[in-house]
Amino acid sequence: MKVLLSNDDGFHAPGLKTLAEVLQDFGEVMVAAPDRERSAVGHGITVHQPLRIKEQPLLPGMKNSFMASGTPADCVKLAVQGLEWRPDVVFSGINRGANLGTDVLYSGTVSAALEGLLLGLPAIAVSLCGHDTAGYELAAAVMRDILEKDILPLKTGALYNINVPLTAGSELPKIRFTRQGTRIYNNIFEQRKDPRGIPYYWLGGTPVPASADPEVDLTAIADGCVSITPLQPDLTNYNLLRQLRKIED
Ligand code: MN
Repeated sequence: MKVLLSNDDGFHAPGLKTLAEVLQDFGEVMVAAPDRERSAVGHGITVHQPLRIKEQPLLPGMKNSFMASGTPADCVKLAVQGLEWRPDVVFSGINRGANLGTDVLYSGTVSAALEGLLLGLPAIAVSLCGHDTAGYELAAAVMRDILEKDILPLKTGALYNINVPLTAGSELPKIRFTRQGTRIYNNIFEQRKDPRGIPYYWLGGTPVPASADPEVDLTAIADGCVSITPLQPDLTNYNLLRQLRKIED
């Protein structure tokens, strides 16, 4: 198995290296990651300036490994279409922080995987629901278990958004297959004043407690389970489309 690995926390983020170490035991790993933090850039691509790459082995002995000046989606696109690397699957992560509910629309981590899907490759995004570096080992153990047991069909059109809860204890958390929920935040913008007295705004806020629907990704994490959501790029609202078709008739 040839794996292309990317992320949005950047080439130097610990989660990228941890996931590369796991994937190395399952096949050849190629790395294409942003040269800096690119979290929350969504599926943006770079079209008004050049992309520069710097080759550097992420792990000793790696042949195909670079960091690029672009976004996560740029990195995957560049590796597959620019350098003509032919992976069997695209991985993205391990992200520092959850990618749950509607947050996936802002996520660079999920977008790197989604770019793989758009290029015809199966893809997996992995995120740790927390910022404790000890959690990367747990997320790595979960990924190793999923790959060893061959739980997820890696076929064209398959994109899995995996979130790992930050749980204590030696047992791996249970896996729950979920659908994407909705994440709403309170107090999103904080207004502050710069030294000249001019107001500026800083985006922050805390998530509103999620619904208790057990089918939803957010609930699975709240229950201490690993959440695996199959995603697709089609954003069509089929209910509304059916209504509109009736107008047409
Ligand atoms: Mn990130």
